[in-house]
Amino acid sequence: MKHKVILVLVDGLSAKVAHGMGYLAALVEAGMARYDVVQCALPSLSRPLYECLLTGVAPVQSGVVHNGVSRLSNQTSLFHLATAQGRSTAAAAYHWFSELYNRSPWQLAHRHTHDSTLPISHGIFYWDDSYPDSHLLADGESLRLTYDPDFLLIHPMGVDDAGHRFGLDSPQYRNQARRMDGLLANLLPGWLAEGYQVVITADHGMNSDGSHGGTLDEERSVPLWLVGSAFNLSAAVQPIAQTAICGLLADLLGLVHDKPALPWLLTRRDDVGHP
Ligand SMILES: [Zn+2]
Repeated sequence: MKHKVILVLVDGLSAKVAHGMGYLAALVEAGMARYDVVQCALPSLSRPLYECLLTGVAPVQSGVVHNGVSRLSNQTSLFHLATAQGRSTAAAAYHWFSELYNRSPWQLAHRHTHDSTLPISHGIFYWDDSYPDSHLLADGESLRLTYDPDFLLIHPMGVDDAGHRFGLDSPQYRNQARRMDGLLANLLPGWLAEGYQVVITADHGMNSDGSHGGTLDEERSVPLWLVGSAFNLSAAVQPIAQTAICGLLADLLGLVHDKPALPWLLTRRDDVGHP
């Protein structure tokens, strides 16, 4: 079965703070979602882990091993798989996603992208780390309502930005996570009512020094919420590799792929699109 999928990638959201997000916790308590903790790949940096989440390839294999690797991905991404198999794509995301999967180097003319020949066919890209989460989520919802994509990436940066400025153990960082929870509470019921499968996770966490990149638990432990009818909410907890989330998304979309995946998290094995 082919589902429509929304991936919310909350940049820099450590599991140390994520578990306290009340609306998402309420969905889990009500039996409407499941929550797992994932150990992110290394180094725990943004661009390497964008590539990891969207291609299923760890940084040391992809070559995107630090944030300064500014080039197109040389892997097959979920955006490539989807568009090649007739599914439509959109992203409201940091401009590094445009650089990885659409065009590099970044140019201001790419901010609003509408080109069905590109892997991310509809995009609204930003470059200022303090771009408001409220506006970013509105950008994503605008893309959804206007273009009805099969796969939509929504990628807010405000939690990461607060973490860099104030650190993990700060009211500012925790409150930015709470604000994200509220923003999701505003949109998620509508997405679920329209049958979307929703995956919410983070690339990496944050440490008390206002940075990330290493192996500390608060840097590596990130949340994974799965919300929607396609998920096996009662499956026993097993380790989840961050490199398998791309395959999970591909299975939800009904794509043929050769990525590592997480079939035990799906309710129907015929969702799995392995060749
Ligand atoms: Zn960061």
